[in-house]
Amino acid sequence: MSTQTPERHEFQAEVKQVLDIVVHSLYTDKEIFVRELVSNASDATEKLRHTQITEKDIFDADLDLEIQVSADEEAGTITIKDVGIGMTHDELIENLGTIAHSGSKAFLNALKEGGERNDNLIGQFGVGFYSVFMVADSVKVYTRSWQADGQSLCWSSDGSGSYEIEEADDERRGTRIVISLKEEYKDFAKKDRIEEIIKKYSAFVQFPVKVDGEALNTIGAIWLKNKNDITEEEYKEFYKFQAKAFDDPRFWLHFAADAPLEINALLFAPTENMEGFGFGRMEPGVALYCRKVLIDNEPKNLLPDWLRFVRGVVDSADLPLNISRESMQDSSLIQKLNKVITKRFLKTLEEKAKKEPAVYDDFWQSFGLFLKEGVTTDFTHRDQLLKLLRYESSFTEEGSTSSLADYLSRAPEGQKEIYYLSGASRQAIETGPYFEAFKARNIEVLYLYEPIDEFVMNHARAFDEKNFVSADSDGIDLDAIAPETDTDKEEALSADATEGLCTFIKNKLGDNVSEVSASERLVGSPAMIINGDKMMTAQMRKMMKAMQQQQGGDAAAMGGEPPVKLQINPRHPLVKNLAGLHDSDEALASLISEQLLDNARVAAGLLEDPSAMIQRNYKILEQLSSK
Ligand code: ADP
Ligand code: MG
Repeated sequence: MSTQTPERHEFQAEVKQVLDIVVHSLYTDKEIFVRELVSNASDATEKLRHTQITEKDIFDADLDLEIQVSADEEAGTITIKDVGIGMTHDELIENLGTIAHSGSKAFLNALKEGGERNDNLIGQFGVGFYSVFMVADSVKVYTRSWQADGQSLCWSSDGSGSYEIEEADDERRGTRIVISLKEEYKDFAKKDRIEEIIKKYSAFVQFPVKVDGEALNTIGAIWLKNKNDITEEEYKEFYKFQAKAFDDPRFWLHFAADAPLEINALLFAPTENMEGFGFGRMEPGVALYCRKVLIDNEPKNLLPDWLRFVRGVVDSADLPLNISRESMQDSSLIQKLNKVITKRFLKTLEEKAKKEPAVYDDFWQSFGLFLKEGVTTDFTHRDQLLKLLRYESSFTEEGSTSSLADYLSRAPEGQKEIYYLSGASRQAIETGPYFEAFKARNIEVLYLYEPIDEFVMNHARAFDEKNFVSADSDGIDLDAIAPETDTDKEEALSADATEGLCTFIKNKLGDNVSEVSASERLVGSPAMIINGDKMMTAQMRKMMKAMQQQQGGDAAAMGGEPPVKLQINPRHPLVKNLAGLHDSDEALASLISEQLLDNARVAAGLLEDPSAMIQRNYKILEQLSSK
């Protein structure tokens, strides 16, 4: 041993927090520490294999890449040894003294989210290296970096507040972890037990995992195998292993192609949408291999961003092994791979939608948002993506959805557009003024509940050459599509009287409105705001206004509300009464006109500050109650 005194370091505060939970947890599957340490050994070996391709000067260059596990039942110790990249002094501090790395970070985030019991979280997220302290009294990590000028070091800790680093005697390259088990967990040092655990968790590790010289993992690169030789269980297990996931995959796609590139791919759609759970943006999770050699675990451009929820492996024999991560970003090979894989994945979704609609619908509920994001960001795949969109509509039951193709198949001959309305809920849309004209003519309207949906419509513009049109737009000629079904309608105000009333209202409302006209479309509501610009729906206006305000602009200072087009319903009793009133009681008629506009603003989602409207409303009530 070295004569130097060991250096003492405190664990970072977050690490202490994790350790405290791990050590005191009642989590029952303590055995997962083996999985975590073997997977770290495998990661370090993968990294070494990758480093070998680009670096010449590697310490201990001739070692066989394998992982060795041994146990001493009497002493109650387990040793896990790899010949991977090893760690330098600084790397020991960074990697085993802080939680800059992935596994335990997700765990801590989940803890902060709160809710679930800590014990479950350990199982769900894995706490990586620190899980060893569930079973260990003390742990020694002997390590020697691959770098020629590295040192032999020993890191040791009992998992309380601190750890020590000291020089060690001649270590070979890699890392050797010696675990002293707590009295009550000495069973893990039984040969049968440790073998059983390794078989259970390490079947897919790409290097031999040996116990006393005998390799226990036999499955290897499952993605290169023939589909018929893989069981459903093996696919599921591989997903969990590869994606470090705790759910089952919903479905998977396993294919091989020769042209334009040699590809073997195994892709999974997860069950859970982790972004939906508030864990922040997902990192891409399809690993890139070349003939079983890992190139990159999280390559950035292998799939489009909106497919970041997909997990799995892509192996292409055509990749140059020494491709660096930087040059990969814009490699034309990666772009070709991207194209082939995305197309195949979308085709799989299309087939699912056709052959197993229930499976697809369920997928859509959880992951539809990603496909919508695709429509707005990925022009290349837009047409394929549009076929996969699903929306509720006035023709579907609440909670069921329709494809755009099905919507069009139900549309009457003369309908040349696809109509939609945005709103917070089915109820909000159906009780608003915009839906009634469509309802009266039995014309189907899609219901859009999410803010991104309007962007989807705006970016896509059309499906099957039929434009998407918001049902609150000006200039929709519904009578040309279908007549109103209700034939005994209220009698309308005469054309002259209507025109006179429109002029009166326009005068009273001034610059708040750009135009007041009679509506052909209103049925049960007295008035509505109509969109002059088919692309500029009420929702969009609202968003733009919010953006302006965020940027420090004040809507009033910028010239107030932008003028809107108001339409009135000449068949509505209120409008008919108003036509009589504007001669006899101009003041009241004026108040009512203003109120009409504000009510229409509310229905369009455009009124943010109701205080003026409430004051006016009281004035009107006051006048009425005095009669
Ligand atoms: P994760 O594997 O998610 O990064 P861990 O807690 O399992 O988190 O490991 C922390 C870090 O310690 C790893 O990222 C790695 O840098 C380092 N490490 C752990 N085990 C080894 C090993 N056997 N060889 C080299 N580095 C290791
Ligand atoms: Mg790990």
